[in-house]
Amino acid sequence: MTMVRSACPLNCPDGCAFLVEKRENSLLIKGDPANNITKGFICSKGQALGKRVFSPDRLKFPLLRQGQRWERVSWDQAYLLLTEAIKKTLDDVGPWGIFHHYDYGSNGVLRELDQRFFQALGGVTEPRGSMCWGAGYQAQELDFGGVFSNSWEDLEDAKTIVLWGRDPAVTNVHLIPHLLGAKKRGARVLVINPIRVKSAEFADEYYQVRPGTDGALALGLSHIILRERWQDTLFIQNYIQGFEGFARRAKEFFPEKVAAITGVGVTQLTQLARAVSHAGPVSIILGYGLQRYIKGGNAVRAIDGLAAISGNIGWAGAGVHYAHQYHQGKMNSVLLPPERYRSRTYPHPILAEELLKADPAIQLAVVTRSNPLVQQPNSQLWRDLWRKIPFKVVIDTVLTETARQSDLVLPAATIFEEEDLVKTSWSPLIHYAQKVLEPQGEVQAEPVIFTELAKRLGIEKDFPYASSREWLEFVLQPLSETYEISLDKLAQGPVYAPYIPKVAWENKDFKTPSGKIELSSELDLADLGEAVEFPYHLLTPHPGNAMHSQFHQDEGFKVFLHPDLAEKFRLNHGDQAIVETAYGQLVAAVVLSEDIHPETVVLPEGTTSEGLGVNQLILGKCSDIGESTCYYEMRCQIRKWYLD
Ligand code: SF4
Repeated sequence: MTMVRSACPLNCPDGCAFLVEKRENSLLIKGDPANNITKGFICSKGQALGKRVFSPDRLKFPLLRQGQRWERVSWDQAYLLLTEAIKKTLDDVGPWGIFHHYDYGSNGVLRELDQRFFQALGGVTEPRGSMCWGAGYQAQELDFGGVFSNSWEDLEDAKTIVLWGRDPAVTNVHLIPHLLGAKKRGARVLVINPIRVKSAEFADEYYQVRPGTDGALALGLSHIILRERWQDTLFIQNYIQGFEGFARRAKEFFPEKVAAITGVGVTQLTQLARAVSHAGPVSIILGYGLQRYIKGGNAVRAIDGLAAISGNIGWAGAGVHYAHQYHQGKMNSVLLPPERYRSRTYPHPILAEELLKADPAIQLAVVTRSNPLVQQPNSQLWRDLWRKIPFKVVIDTVLTETARQSDLVLPAATIFEEEDLVKTSWSPLIHYAQKVLEPQGEVQAEPVIFTELAKRLGIEKDFPYASSREWLEFVLQPLSETYEISLDKLAQGPVYAPYIPKVAWENKDFKTPSGKIELSSELDLADLGEAVEFPYHLLTPHPGNAMHSQFHQDEGFKVFLHPDLAEKFRLNHGDQAIVETAYGQLVAAVVLSEDIHPETVVLPEGTTSEGLGVNQLILGKCSDIGESTCYYEMRCQIRKWYLD
């Protein structure tokens, strides 16, 4: 049997390479040993992608809502309906009456042709900011002038590795061999997290921090380093701008105060500060949860500052790993240049409330690569908004909750049914995901859908390529000319991007206006006050076997509590508890766990039979930097639920 080279389309840092074998009504997916990160191993989420292709839930034909039921329609009818709705909106109110919601539900450079299509219409209404990582991302751009990390292999040169809010044992499994390799060479692994996560099992030390206090912790550690004169003075003199202001801010964060705020004792704080300043090089690997707070951007800036004053930037084995943007500008983009269109944008966290009062009002919504009715905060408000939009269209592989509440659903191809190019913001590898099988039923790939729509609307000059292969050749052209990386070469196996260095910022050529690391902190001790009515921190991470609402199974909610907290409410393992925020409430089955911070309620993503997820409890708020969604800013209360 022939194995076809492909890649994982999920929004995961590992960016695995696949070898896929087509069988009778199934696909066998294996890790490709040619990818030196995947090394032949893939996780259960990657393996499950094959089942999705042939799943009975798979959408195979365009569907049109007729009252309470769905009617199968032809592609011709579907295209006609959608193009008529676009034309009518353009005529009645202009392009801003069209709302395009997209995110990263499926990776692949050709998936971005959806954005190109709406840009070619002149620019429509779109989200801006981020649902996921924007606060930390922009914080690093402010500090360093760009987001770059040392390579995965470089971790083996570290003497201390801090997994700060990150749990690679669950969300980044291919990092584990590098961490274990570093340990073998004498490195110590420290975990900072409100939950004793799986990665803590192989760590040398674990620090349980109160949720939302990571920035205070970093400033407290900086306070100790500066007080004890453990900083790297030469590095500060040569490469840091704004040190005095940062030091003044850190001075306010006395260890005793920081211990009270974070829950990490003074002795532990000193121990951590000593490790960061004395046991280098230190690599800090950040998770995204710690920046999902109103002060999330400043939390990451404080951690960057801690690494900078201890001289842990720009050397082998050092750095603050968040993501990388090395691929930017290296390939041709499928997006149109910004001067070609003028979009109307609203921040992700408050999108529903802004759209409800937008003028012109939204007449037509088109959703691609996302499921906003479940993924966005303010779920109830999103439902109100959705009811008010006259015509809603979803392009997806299954009937998501958003699709269920819409008018027209177009079935999209999976990564295995059309060719694409896959790269991620953590892996240095570029993959050619080749077509493995013909699309199921009448499914069509996004490049086909948007090219056809463009043709019918008279904007085909912006869709000049007839096939995905031609688009991919256009995207790769600069790499092909400079590095001889062509599709034919990628068909032989993934390629390690030659422009990605082992060490980020090795030449200390920071891309900030001053050319130095620019430190600043707007964290304030007063921001970390207590909420009395809703005293507990609510964390809503995604479960280990799912990626947000992808692969979700409707098993109801589970709430994880420390036994001490459960005891206060006479809750036992298996009881039903009501979890309530200022925005809503839901019922979940109690799971007791000593691993959870005792003032924290952990409610992994899930859904009810009515299709509502945990975001029915979350009020959308914008982060200080990056207009990112503060999913973890919510406080909650719990109580026992007694069945009548
Ligand atoms: S580890 Fe990440 S990239 Fe690899 S198969 Fe799993 S989800 Fe996909």
